[in-house]
Amino acid sequence: EAIKDFEGTGIGLMEISHRSKEYDKVVADAVALFKELLHIPDGYSVIFLGGGASLQFCMVPFNLLEKKAAYLNTGTWANKAQKEAKLFGEVIEVASSKDANYTFIPKGYTIPHDADYFHITTNNTIFGTEIHADYDSPVPMIADMSSDIFSRPIDVKKYGLIYGGAQKNLAPAGVTFVIVKDELLGKVTRPIPTMLDYRTHIKENSMFNTPPVLPIYTALQTLKWLKSIGGVPEMYKRNKAKATLLYNEIDRNKLFKGTTAVEDRSLMNICFVLNDQYKDLEDEFYKFATAKGMVGIKGHRSVGGFRASCYNALPISAVEALVAAMQEFEKAH
Ligand code: PLP
Repeated sequence: EAIKDFEGTGIGLMEISHRSKEYDKVVADAVALFKELLHIPDGYSVIFLGGGASLQFCMVPFNLLEKKAAYLNTGTWANKAQKEAKLFGEVIEVASSKDANYTFIPKGYTIPHDADYFHITTNNTIFGTEIHADYDSPVPMIADMSSDIFSRPIDVKKYGLIYGGAQKNLAPAGVTFVIVKDELLGKVTRPIPTMLDYRTHIKENSMFNTPPVLPIYTALQTLKWLKSIGGVPEMYKRNKAKATLLYNEIDRNKLFKGTTAVEDRSLMNICFVLNDQYKDLEDEFYKFATAKGMVGIKGHRSVGGFRASCYNALPISAVEALVAAMQEFEKAH
């Protein structure tokens, strides 16, 4: 409807000036809902940018890394973030689960007190592990929450900056959100190109240049929906119910097994493979499930098997259907 006639203006969302008062309100409302739903305290800004989470891998160190940064290596994306930071200063990898193909979240490491920040990836989309707590860090904590934002309550004040691509739990691809504690900015000595400086976008309310208007508008609709169902606590309840249902079946079913440490299992990306003695059935199950309408459950090539992504929008009925298919397949074998 908005694409055809935006807010009764007679022109569409994709035609109207992003500087019109009608569009201005979309951004303001989206920011306000971000703050309300995540209980973002004063002193933090919310901005919408282009470039994906991948651009944040470089914008974070560009704006915050003066000498040294600490990174926790929990997967492909965490690794990519770290690689970019090395262009800007010393990077300390505090711990890594790479040698175990990222099947767990490392614990018991020390975060150097003299690091400019500590970077984590809260949900490892490819490997299906998730950090379930808001860590305590002696230095500002930066989190890539691309694949679990709004899936569970978070304590924003424990973070210095949170970023993510919108395309999992928020909006179609094309917009990136950044929640940043204002006092962390403006401390590095290097010059920062205008477009890559967070302060530019904070000052201009995400309208320094043309923002991704349609994804931001869609994010606003998602956030309104999220609020209408009871906000993040209700979403968390639903996500836990979906994940419990599927993990219970993975653990019960003789054909399948999970791929990660149980305590680090992701609520969003549920990875499983066939047990060794049933390995040959992998293709057959893929075809079986696909024929039943379960599209896109092939696991990432670095894990193999299957990955059921259970993002916020996925109804529990979809998980029930997958569980039923797994049970039917088990009976047949
Ligand atoms: N970080 C995580 C955790 C992701 O899952 C992804 C993409 O799936 C990215 C970063 C990269 O995001 P983008 O494609 O928006 O650059």
